[in-house]
Amino acid sequence: MLKVNRKEYDALRGHGEETYPHECCGVLLGRMDGDERLVTSIVRCGNTRADSPHNRYNIDPRELVRIQREGRDRGEDIVGFYHSHPDHPARWSPTDLAEAHWIGCSYVITSITKGKAETTNSFELCGSDENDKRFADEKIELA
Ligand SMILES: [Zn+2]
Repeated sequence: MLKVNRKEYDALRGHGEETYPHECCGVLLGRMDGDERLVTSIVRCGNTRADSPHNRYNIDPRELVRIQREGRDRGEDIVGFYHSHPDHPARWSPTDLAEAHWIGCSYVITSITKGKAETTNSFELCGSDENDKRFADEKIELA
């Protein structure tokens, strides 16, 4: 399960409305709370996929390293990622799975329809390595 504070939940959905019709993306920071991931803050990222920003997202690895370091200084770890699907359902795509590498992390997707945030779903990247990784539906609970 992924627990998200209302403020962070609204912020990641709002981010997708702002960048519509392009995809937004960002990082979920927080900590493990038993079996649950608790999101305590989010960090917006620039989408580096200038070639196809409406249906692709990418976070600059250097930006990711910086976010991870600054998070750790505050006692937060990377617990997941989020992005938006402009005018597409909030389900993961084969590309999303291929480009997901953080096993044990949550991947949150929000569908944005005509500029308004609709459904937000979370998927946990399960498995042991790149060969058997898969997404499992995960419940989002608002904290
Ligand atoms: Zn996607």
